[in-house]
Amino acid sequence: MADWAARAAALDAADPLAGHRDEFLLDAAPAVSAYLDGNSLGRPLKATADAVDRFVHHEWGGRLIQGWSGDTHVPDGGWMDWPLDLGDRVGHAALGAAAGQTVVADSTTVLFYKLVRAAADHGLREGRDEVVCDTDNFPTDRFVLEGVAAERGLTLRWIETDPAAGVTLEQVRAAVGPRTALATFSHVAYRSGHLADAQAITRAVHDAGALVLWDLSHSAGSVPLELDAWGVDLAVGCTYKYLNGGPGAPAFAYLAARHHGVLHQPVQGWMGHADPFDMGQGYQPGPGVRQLVSGTPPILGMVPVRVGVEQLERAGIHAVREKSLLLTGFAVELADALLAPHGVEVVTPRDPASRGGHVTVRSGSSGADFRDVTQRLWADGVVPDFRTPDGIRLGLAPLSTSFGEVLDGVVALERLVRSA
Ligand SMILES: *Cc1c(COP(=O)(O)O)cnc(C)c1O
Repeated sequence: MADWAARAAALDAADPLAGHRDEFLLDAAPAVSAYLDGNSLGRPLKATADAVDRFVHHEWGGRLIQGWSGDTHVPDGGWMDWPLDLGDRVGHAALGAAAGQTVVADSTTVLFYKLVRAAADHGLREGRDEVVCDTDNFPTDRFVLEGVAAERGLTLRWIETDPAAGVTLEQVRAAVGPRTALATFSHVAYRSGHLADAQAITRAVHDAGALVLWDLSHSAGSVPLELDAWGVDLAVGCTYKYLNGGPGAPAFAYLAARHHGVLHQPVQGWMGHADPFDMGQGYQPGPGVRQLVSGTPPILGMVPVRVGVEQLERAGIHAVREKSLLLTGFAVELADALLAPHGVEVVTPRDPASRGGHVTVRSGSSGADFRDVTQRLWADGVVPDFRTPDGIRLGLAPLSTSFGEVLDGVVALERLVRSA
């Protein structure tokens, strides 16, 4: 035990990102000793509280309706530009996407719908009527796919993924073909933490003549992405997980430049029109990625996202990934030493190259009811999350999680498992 504490302390002392932890509003949750859910909802930054306050007073309160246009001498420009400007920043800091291909708007679910429809409609025009997807993708993705399939008469071709791992290149190769319009998966599996080989899978989907759409909700701000270099067609993801944008923060969508003006999303709103204030008859899609915007963008919700992205810009995604691998490695090591003797199993891949930012353990032969254990942990100030049927997910957000927190969390879990 003393050795583990010394290890955690040494890792924290050697952590080049440790200073970023102090930028968070840690004091706001004094009862939480280990927050291991930053992959579900990131913590707020102190600067976010200030930025929201400033926005209300000076931007919204001070500029009123004039805030929408960029012609006032305010450094942030007009709010009309925020979906694309913030999209560019997310693209640069987290996605490996050159400017002009990313927007921030709506929720992940809604953006996913828009992009699936755009890709499916394109496929149908080419006589392709199948969408390849997998059974362990996040529920919202699966549900939206069911809806679009019903709406457009598509067939969903389900890959049965191992919930303890994730979708593999071999599975995708076997599933795609001349009828495939679109293949869509999560890059990091929300349950197991498995990191898919996005580059190779993208290539395999392209070899079949189809488009690929990645859900990056559990990757953005945790795992470096190279959407442009990998040739990805479409992507969506959350900003309230590793990007710390706050509950319900608007999501991002990426549409590769070569598809602009070729793929069309179906929610044709006035804000995606070529000239929103023309107010004329007939929809004319706006240029480039602006067509992905539908209605009035959630400006207030973007204020915290800007702060979160600014922090990531300073820290650098590669440094974040380095710490992430140390955090998940430490969690796996602790689980092996403290939990495995009681029958608890590590689900997350042990190969660091196949691992995202969280570690999942399942109750295995320990006899512990992990739903109940999670409730007790929360009551004790240790906050991971439970995932059916028998998993506890330790979310490790490199900018806000310390190695000491990981140790505290696993030790608390061990105590409950032992007494179960
Ligand atoms: C968290 C998450 C979502 C959430 O979608 P919302 O529209 O924000 O509720 C979607 N997909 C994946 C893979 C997620 O992890």
